[in-house]
Amino acid sequence: DLAFSGSGLEKTYQTGETQVHALRGVDLAVPRGEMLVLLGPSGSGKSTLLNIIGGLDRPTSGKLFYRNTELTAFDDRELTRYRRAEVGFIFQFYNLIPSLTAEENVRLVTDIADDPMDPAEALALVGLAERRGHYPAQLSGGEQQRVAVARAVAKRPGVLLCDEPTGALDSSTGVRVLETLERAHNELGTTVIIITHNVGIAAMAHRVMHFRDGQIAKIEVNEHPVEPG
Ligand code: ADP
Ligand code: ADP
Repeated sequence: DLAFSGSGLEKTYQTGETQVHALRGVDLAVPRGEMLVLLGPSGSGKSTLLNIIGGLDRPTSGKLFYRNTELTAFDDRELTRYRRAEVGFIFQFYNLIPSLTAEENVRLVTDIADDPMDPAEALALVGLAERRGHYPAQLSGGEQQRVAVARAVAKRPGVLLCDEPTGALDSSTGVRVLETLERAHNELGTTVIIITHNVGIAAMAHRVMHFRDGQIAKIEVNEHPVEPG
């Protein structure tokens, strides 16, 4: 039972005279409920692939399926609907709205979702139930990122896409953010795809895809993923 399957995915960026081949023929199969890490040097195509999986960008060629639906056949409206209904994003910088409380930031998403969690429930899942009335500036970096996780999981997405989610945090704070992702993964069965340079995070994944020059160079399988903490 696959969350995603893709074949022959290529992405070429044309800037003036210069062509950049960000993806050069990527085939992938991601089982439903998997925790997958994308690892590799800067510029190797990880974010490009994550953005295509999340419906933020389109490949130049190749096919990508979500469950049994071909995303690469979607028009813009269908892609937007897919993104809103199925995808939770977490970025390196928390992207919270500073003038809204933690709960109001989560409510932005739950107000437009089909079957959302209660915002308080989502904040409890990340251990911030008592901080729901606080503004981002009153929260530490790790706490802000946990609010971002709450916001991403509150619509019960089919997939959580995380681009360097702990990149701005020290390692123990990063581990706590990871614990909240792991809890969402365990309690909701969400497929989680994480770009990271952090080897501790890679050790928690079911599989690690190593990228090099726009291709998957190697896939490592962790028989016994490490528990966070
Ligand atoms: P990674 O996430 O592994 O660091 P990216 O997917 O961000 O790699 O980038 C892959 C390649 O595509 C890089 O050479 C990058 O400069 C290029 N690239 C990414 N986005 C764009 C864009 N919007 N326009 C032009 N080139 C881009
Ligand atoms: P960290 O060690 O995670 O970087 P900080 O030292 O920034 O955390 O903050 C420690 C605690 O103080 C956190 O629980 C944070 O929420 C709280 N805190 C930080 N700044 C404020 C503030 N302006 N108002 C209320 N609480 C704050």
